[in-house]
Amino acid sequence: QAEALARAEQLAAVGRISAQVAHEVRNPLSSIGLNVEMLGDALARATFHSEEEGREAHDLLTAVTREVDRLTDVTEQYLRMARPPKPTLVSENVTEVLGGVLDFSREELERAGVEVVRDFAPDTPPVLADEGQLRQVLLNLVRNSREAMPDGGRLTVSTRGLDSKEVEISVQDTGRGMTEAVRGRLFEPFFSTKEGGTGLGLSVSQQILQAHGGTLSCQSQPGQGTTFVLRLPRA
Ligand code: ADP
Ligand code: MG
Repeated sequence: QAEALARAEQLAAVGRISAQVAHEVRNPLSSIGLNVEMLGDALARATFHSEEEGREAHDLLTAVTREVDRLTDVTEQYLRMARPPKPTLVSENVTEVLGGVLDFSREELERAGVEVVRDFAPDTPPVLADEGQLRQVLLNLVRNSREAMPDGGRLTVSTRGLDSKEVEISVQDTGRGMTEAVRGRLFEPFFSTKEGGTGLGLSVSQQILQAHGGTLSCQSQPGQGTTFVLRLPRA
């Protein structure tokens, strides 16, 4: 399951990058198309030394137009493919989802010498979320925390209703924390300080939170540990 998650992260990021490239290419491409069209009009009015010269110019322009059309199709295709799956938002009990994630991770947390503290406010209201995507985000955060505590430590996970609109979940560890330089880049796709890290967990997580109308933020000090705070709209 961990491998499937890693693959999902990778796919999502590849999708996002394709979309970025497609987007970068699409706009200049459409202006190339327009300019070629105008060149065609100019060509229709132009006089050439010979009929053959005129035909040649016309054929060249036709070839360019054809390629521009083909590239436009391809970029459209990539853009369609790369759109991140829309979350299916339903009412979810965050403490249940979190509890499930912690149960799932219990074995590896225990083995790493990480003590887990569950601080769930009993009146935490339900949120609007896609359960699978929310699980993916929470698993990413729990995994990062475990990796930041190679000599063990404490993971404190809490939930509470924030106001009439939002619910706050926080994932706090007593790990190595981050320098300011790392904190400034941690949501970048492919940014990782780990050997063999994908650097995709947090960028994908942030993208998921945004698609939920929520936020993901981080507080961290080197040597002092790290707290990630998620906010999600109430159901
Ligand atoms: P990866 O885990 O593959 O490196 P992520 O996107 O999950 O990629 O995290 C990016 C980087 O942010 C990590 O390499 C690490 O430097 C930093 N980071 C994330 N979570 C924590 C944490 N809980 N404590 C310390 N550093 C963290
Ligand atoms: Mg990670």
